[in-house]
Amino acid sequence: MDYQGILREIAHEIQPLLGQGAVADYIPPLATEDPNRFGMAVRLLDGSEFVAGEADHPFSIQSVSKVFRLALAMDIHGDGIWRRVGREASGTAFNSLVQLETERGIPRNPMISAGALVTMDAILQPGGQRDPGIAFIQRCLDGQPVAYDDGVADAELATTHRNRALAHLLKSFGNLNNDPEDVIAAHTRESAVTLSCRDLCRAGAFLVTGGLTPAGSRVTEARQAKRINAIMLTSGVYDEAGDYAYRVGLPAKSGVGGGVLAVMPGQFTVCVWSPGLNPKGNSLAGTMALELFTTMTGVSVF
Ligand code: GLU
Repeated sequence: MDYQGILREIAHEIQPLLGQGAVADYIPPLATEDPNRFGMAVRLLDGSEFVAGEADHPFSIQSVSKVFRLALAMDIHGDGIWRRVGREASGTAFNSLVQLETERGIPRNPMISAGALVTMDAILQPGGQRDPGIAFIQRCLDGQPVAYDDGVADAELATTHRNRALAHLLKSFGNLNNDPEDVIAAHTRESAVTLSCRDLCRAGAFLVTGGLTPAGSRVTEARQAKRINAIMLTSGVYDEAGDYAYRVGLPAKSGVGGGVLAVMPGQFTVCVWSPGLNPKGNSLAGTMALELFTTMTGVSVF
């Protein structure tokens, strides 16, 4: 398969879409991102990597971080985590409060904000690490240093009123053990992690290999990796899961920084980045790039 040629063609095909999406302006530093930028990387099971555009430019991964947080929460709590958060698509915006109230404090899934706050709460152990989710991402990268952008984290922390509302609503239903402010702060630091498309393809390798990092160390069990892929497919791109299954056909997790990490179990990870978002909050050009990729390679879970 001429992956390099396919990526070159995709980078050309998506040019007309660059600049058309809207950047995430509710997190001030992200509001200044250039929607015309694009990067893409693919990492195969054998470790070979192919890139196009700004594949090595570190960007704010935002909700892509929820995948790693979930893996850690499942590792710590096993099936017990599913008493606190569901596994169903929400059909609502990622930061909606409505369902949480009507469903008595149990978030639909760990990929929406409410669910991610529960999994963050679940990994914040008394006396434990300050940022266990970031440490887990570093484990998935075989120890490659992982840092977050202070400016992005501080700016979001100062304006994250909806997440504060969600955290306190969860607390009111008894589904948050830690202080809501501690959960919110840890959530914004992990969201502000900066990684490139190539980095994320490597960090997500455990989802392709059934739990093994690029260097072969185990960070989760094969059945847990399978389950995380399933949740990415049904809930990883918020209220666009159906269209992603139809157009892309891969488990994927997006972030409002414009990144999308997608997985073909047993074959590859592919990551795209373009800050312009579509109305559902997913990268406009990135989504088209992924659709072109599965079309041109003929490879999807379907
Ligand atoms: N930190 C962002 C928030 O909590 C992440 C949103 C996203 O990337 O979907 O709103």
